[in-house]
Amino acid sequence: MKLFGHEAMSRTAIAQFVDGLPPNLKFIEPFLAEDIVHHSLNRDVLDVFGGHWSDAGQRHHFMRAANETEHQAYRNGLTWIEKNGREAAGSLRRLYAHGTTRNFNAGHIAGPLGYAFHALQDSYAPMHVTRKTVGTDHIITKIHVYTQQDSAVHGASDICASKNLDTPLNQDAIAACREFTKMVVVASLERTDPGYLARWTSLWRTFVSMFLREQLAFPAR
Ligand SMILES: [Zn+2]
Repeated sequence: MKLFGHEAMSRTAIAQFVDGLPPNLKFIEPFLAEDIVHHSLNRDVLDVFGGHWSDAGQRHHFMRAANETEHQAYRNGLTWIEKNGREAAGSLRRLYAHGTTRNFNAGHIAGPLGYAFHALQDSYAPMHVTRKTVGTDHIITKIHVYTQQDSAVHGASDICASKNLDTPLNQDAIAACREFTKMVVVASLERTDPGYLARWTSLWRTFVSMFLREQLAFPAR
């Protein structure tokens, strides 16, 4: 997906999320906004210089390495998004324990959140993932392999997709990022470690059923 598309989507998702924050949580806003956009933009740049879309890097963009099955790629994509969300929530918990926003590195929260945003948004980009529309759902049916030859087509289609944020697919991508952020914050508010883990696990399961449902054509391997 083009940088332009990621930036517009991340900004919109964060703006929607921050709008709904209760007053006593407004203090976390600076830990989300600018840096998330920055990080989600940088993911493409990092991957280009760090071995450009290497096999292990496909999950960062919700794509598939040539030697992976669709199910493997799907699981790797989910694991990457989930891990980054848990990391962001863990950092938020440390921020509360820290007791002050002074000297707290926003990158520990916004960084992983930005990586998760990037992969989530890519999962809605037609050249990365095919989703079929069923009612208001967009179900994942195919995860594409990225090859060098694809890059021209890839770029062109993403520019089209990103020009208009009002398509149902792009609106769903924005909602996914907004709800993901909400989930990170809600889980982080659990005081005890077991409470936090239980809450996170339950929220993540719900999130997957809403935004990352799959009906991949080939049997699971
Ligand atoms: Zn990407």
